[in-house]
Amino acid sequence: MRDEPERVIEERRLKAEFPMNPAFSTQSLFGWGRYRAESCHVCRPEKRSEVAAALASGLQPSYIPRGLGRSYGDASLNENGGVIWPVRLNRFISFDNATGELECECGTSLAEIIQYFLPRGWFLPVSPGTKFVTVGGAIAADIHGKNHHRDGTFSNFVLSLELLTPAGERLRCTPASHSEIFWATVGGMGLTGVILSARFRLRRVDSAYVFVDYYKAANLADAMTNMEASDERYDYSVAWIDALATGKTLGRSILMRGNHAPAAELPARVRHWQSEMANNGAVSTRPKWNLLADFPSGALNALTVKAFNAAYFALHRTTARQPVNFEKFFYPLDALDNWNRMYGKRGFVQYQIALPQASGREGLRAVLDRLARSGRASFLAVLKRFGESGPGLLSFPLRGYTLALDIPAGRGLAPFLYELDRMTLDYGGRVYLAKDAILRPEDFAAMYPRLDDFRSIQRKLDPKRLFSSSLARRLKIVG
Ligand SMILES: Cc1cc2nc3c(=O)[nH]c(=O)nc-3n(C[C@H](O)[C@H](O)[C@H](O)COP(=O)(O)OP(=O)(O)OC[C@H]3O[C@@H](n4cnc5c(N)ncnc54)[C@H](O)[C@@H]3O)c2cc1C
Repeated sequence: MRDEPERVIEERRLKAEFPMNPAFSTQSLFGWGRYRAESCHVCRPEKRSEVAAALASGLQPSYIPRGLGRSYGDASLNENGGVIWPVRLNRFISFDNATGELECECGTSLAEIIQYFLPRGWFLPVSPGTKFVTVGGAIAADIHGKNHHRDGTFSNFVLSLELLTPAGERLRCTPASHSEIFWATVGGMGLTGVILSARFRLRRVDSAYVFVDYYKAANLADAMTNMEASDERYDYSVAWIDALATGKTLGRSILMRGNHAPAAELPARVRHWQSEMANNGAVSTRPKWNLLADFPSGALNALTVKAFNAAYFALHRTTARQPVNFEKFFYPLDALDNWNRMYGKRGFVQYQIALPQASGREGLRAVLDRLARSGRASFLAVLKRFGESGPGLLSFPLRGYTLALDIPAGRGLAPFLYELDRMTLDYGGRVYLAKDAILRPEDFAAMYPRLDDFRSIQRKLDPKRLFSSSLARRLKIVG
């Protein structure tokens, strides 16, 4: 596996981006929203034993693991504290071709998994909107994808994980053994220790394409009615929303729903690409372009976003069974490296909420209406359906809907989001920790009813209070 040319290139790139440094060095780090830089003491272990050594060193007052930094806020930041950054722990450990069970180290990215396994007929069981996420980060945030309504979160496919606890013990946790610790670690945002490796099931696919049905929904009610009526027929379902539309067109959207395409049914124009990928045994997952500089702050404003939204809506047609390459369907933003620079130096926050089925329609309408009236332009607004919530104590999804909005940083942002938090709470919903940068502790506690159970397990694992993050302190998750 390790001789794979693409993988070697990727390893070289990682080495250049993350030069070896077993000691702690001070660095200014951001979340993906680049909302606030924080000074952290960073250590980059190369081996699992070095993670333990970093923890045992006693050099930092506290520690938090970090993956590829794709959480938007402060979940993988630890101001003036230690950040354990194991992105070089990216080895595949074992794979069973009969069951699709893969064991790999925590710093392995989803991109690396796709690169090697997609040409061999395997794909991720659950994928977020970017593949530049580590396995450790995927489990710690208990990520969901466009298939949550069918398959639940990433943790549904995790068979076991190896956790280095704050006390320095290496524990193998499964849903059946050390199950309390397993379900606190899943969605536990790195606060129960460092996930060193994990074993999980990949999903069999016949091609790198998805047959996608597009539907142009005139407004939110049209989109939701359609999703509710027919989502069960699709592996994946997502709606792009024009968050600036108001009145009768409030929530007008493009629904994109699809199923993995059987190779034999692909049209000739894409079959060639598919066979070439399978023959090469590797698929490139690198971004096509790179945004080398920040846009001026304010470049994404109500006017530019309105123009973009009008064009995007006009470009799409209601069509059926379009063969769409996995990159375009799952990861459209990954084509442009550093796309987060579009928001300029001030950065942005992503605000993602889940609302229960019963109040979802009314709640989404109220939030979208408030956003449109605020004049704040959300360049990306995405709606998905959630199936049942899982056993992860701090896992985000609950049965109903989820709406994600990118909102540029600017004057009055925090009070505006506090207002949305209150609305979300009134409709029985919650905010996603992997995206959050602003939430207040009292609102967080009201949104996550299993918080006390999480705290009591975390306290037992970490009596000396070694694990903390900027997010954990802001939300008073740990003492
Ligand atoms: C464009 C884009 C689209 C996205 N779409 C989705 C989506 O559709 N669904 C979704 O659920 N999320 C989505 N996300 C969010 C992303 O999947 C999560 O934030 C994920 O946790 C990021 O993983 P990471 O490796 O970058 O970890 P980081 O962002 O570095 O860290 C995230 C959390 O994981 C913890 N962590 C990281 N590694 C370890 C480890 N080894 N052991 C223990 N804890 C660890 C950190 O402490 C932190 O709390 C998206 C993000 C982006 C940028």
